[in-house]
Parts: sequence; C-alpha cells; structure tokens
Amino acid sequence: MMYFDHAATTPMRPEVLEKMTPYMLEQFGNPSSVHAFGRTGRAAIDTARRMMATELNAKPTEILFTSGGTESDNYAIIGAAMQYQSKGRHVITTRFEHHAVLHAFEELEKRGFDVTYLEIPESGIITEEALRAAVRPDTILVSIMFGNNEVGTVQPIAACGRFLREQQIIFHTDAVQVFAKSPIDVEAMQIDLLSASSHKINGPKGVGLLYIRSAVKLAPQSYGGEQERKRRAGTENVAGIVGFAEAVRLTATEREEQFEQYQLLRRTLLERLRSSTIEFEVNGTDGLPQVLNLYFPDVEIEPFLIMLDMRGIAVSSGSACTAGSVEPSHVLSAMYGENPRTKQSVRISFGRGNDLSQVELLAQGLIDVVKSFQNN
Ligand SMILES: *Cc1c(COP(=O)(O)O)cnc(C)c1O
Repeated sequence: MMYFDHAATTPMRPEVLEKMTPYMLEQFGNPSSVHAFGRTGRAAIDTARRMMATELNAKPTEILFTSGGTESDNYAIIGAAMQYQSKGRHVITTRFEHHAVLHAFEELEKRGFDVTYLEIPESGIITEEALRAAVRPDTILVSIMFGNNEVGTVQPIAACGRFLREQQIIFHTDAVQVFAKSPIDVEAMQIDLLSASSHKINGPKGVGLLYIRSAVKLAPQSYGGEQERKRRAGTENVAGIVGFAEAVRLTATEREEQFEQYQLLRRTLLERLRSSTIEFEVNGTDGLPQVLNLYFPDVEIEPFLIMLDMRGIAVSSGSACTAGSVEPSHVLSAMYGENPRTKQSVRISFGRGNDLSQVELLAQGLIDVVKSFQNN
C-alpha cells in the first residue's frame, strides 16, 4: 500500500513511541501528585512545554496541552467569544476553515453572535483588504487558518495579525497543517491564539496544543481540577504530550530537507500527468508543497477512489460520500462556487516515507484510472 493521505493523519514514528513507552509503564504517576512518580510526569510535561514554546517563540506559560486540533479550535473560538462578548458580539472567519472551526462558529451563531464568513477567491487565498472590509467596531474575534488542509494554500497570517493587533481584535489561527513543518513565530506574526495537533506530524493521536497569548483570557470550557493553570481540567495525557514533543523536535529538525523532498515529488507528479493525455487542473495557488488538490473532469469520485485503492494507492477527496450521494467539498465550493470540480477532485498529501518510486506508481495509477473515465 502507498499512503498519500498525510493531511488526514500520519503514522507514528518508532522514535516517538520509544519516548512515550516509559510514561505508560514505569513512570505512570499523576503529574499533580507530590511523590516521585508524580514529579517525574510533571517534569516531562514541563520539558515538552518549553520545547513547544521555543518552537513558536512563545512563553511556556502560554502553551496549553489539549486533546488535539479540534479541542484547541473549539476552546479558542468559544472561549474567546464568551470571555469578550461584553465588548461586542461580531466575529469573523472564512468559508473554507476546517469543520472544527466552522462548526464552532455555527455554535456561536446559535448563542446569538453575528458571524461574517469571508468569501474565498479561486486562488484559495484571502486578502487583507477583504478582512479590513469585514471588520466592525463590535468585532472581537477573527479566525483564519494558516495552511488549508484540502488545497494547501497559505494565508497572509502576518499581515492579518498586524492589522488585527492594531484594532485590538483577537486573532486565532488553525495551524494544524503547518506547525513544526514550517517555522512559526507568534510574536512576529502577532497571533493571539494558535491550534496545533500531534497526529498530523507523526506523533500520537489525541493530543494537541493551544497557544494562548498571555494578554488573552479564555472563558473555561471544562470544570474540575486545576490542571494547566486552571485552563483545562483533567489529568494530563503525559505519554501523549511527551510523544508530541518528540514529533515536533524530529519534524522541525528535518523540515528543510522534507520541504525539498515534497517539492520534488509534487513537481515530478505534475510533470508525469502533464506529459500524458489526461485532462486535469490544479485547484488553488501553490502553498504547502505537501498538499496537492487535482481536478479530473468527468471522473466519478467514489469508483475512482476505489479503483486507486485496488492498486494500493490511498488518496482522498474532500467530498464526503453519504448513502451513495456525493457531497461537494465545502473548501472547493467556497473557492469555485457550484462547479463539477467540487465533486471531481482528489487530494494527494505527501509525508515522510513517500519517495520518487512511489510517485511514479501514483502517476501511472492516476493516468490509467482517469483514462477509464475520460476516454482519452
Ligand atoms: C486535522 C485537522 C484538525 C483537527 O485536528 P484533530 O487533532 O484531528 O482534532 C483541525 N484543523 C485542521 C486544519 C486539520 O487538518
């Protein structure tokens, strides 16, 4: 099997598992306990927290460990809106966010907030001008994703951050697809809240982080113990946090060579497809080199994915298939409106372990299967 779905999740690295194992076996203590078992767990979390802070140019106290990208997005958005609602009840996001963000904003609408959804141009990149035009005197929160998980486009985060800081509007970004793979400096980019997840960078599932700038307060969304400076109740996932930190360390160390590798794989795949007779287009402007979204006119996505799967090729479509009918991808719909490409596109996402020989097989597989639909 060849796996090209790393934007969905990634396999855990053996080095990561090795770091985690002691914290599930001998060092199982509750980090809130005062005895030696507890102190060992606490020290491991502290070390991981310092690592994350260094990676983001943040302070360790600004890092909150969570159960993943979804919880981080939910807590940032609902927590900030509830905390600052007396200053205004207008919030802004974009139409092509991950559902962990979009559905949190839908919840805010139910709670009486006014939500503006920024339209997405075909480039897949929003403009600072569009953001400026949407801001009102009662705007309290803006959430714009860093790198899109379906098309890989990267948003002008630093420019948005500068403008929003001037306006004293809280700025959240979902950086799940970017964190550790590319450098992020929350100070320079003037980000207030940032979400990241471990399992998208070869770490364990079920752990993530939320960066919370020290000047920002979030209304609590969980009630119980006083863990994580009273921001998140519940015993910490010590082994998961340790594994996440190791995944960040390894990913950051290797990111330059991986970046070049992904660019090479992307370029090679596109060259092979272009020198064939099949018809296709790239969705969105180039951004993250590891995410490539391709539109193949006339392809029926469900049998298409199954035919690729039978050849041992795992890719994905942003469109969900429910009970035989194909729902268009909300990301492609945001970019292209009602268009056949919202149901006839696939996402190829590269990760560690993908090499040129796999990409040659992927190219051949795509060409053969697309031809069976396009008759060319
Ligand atoms: C995967 C993903 C999430 C959700 O993260 P989980 O850790 O799976 O909850 C959120 N946002 C983006 C952009 C993602 O790719």
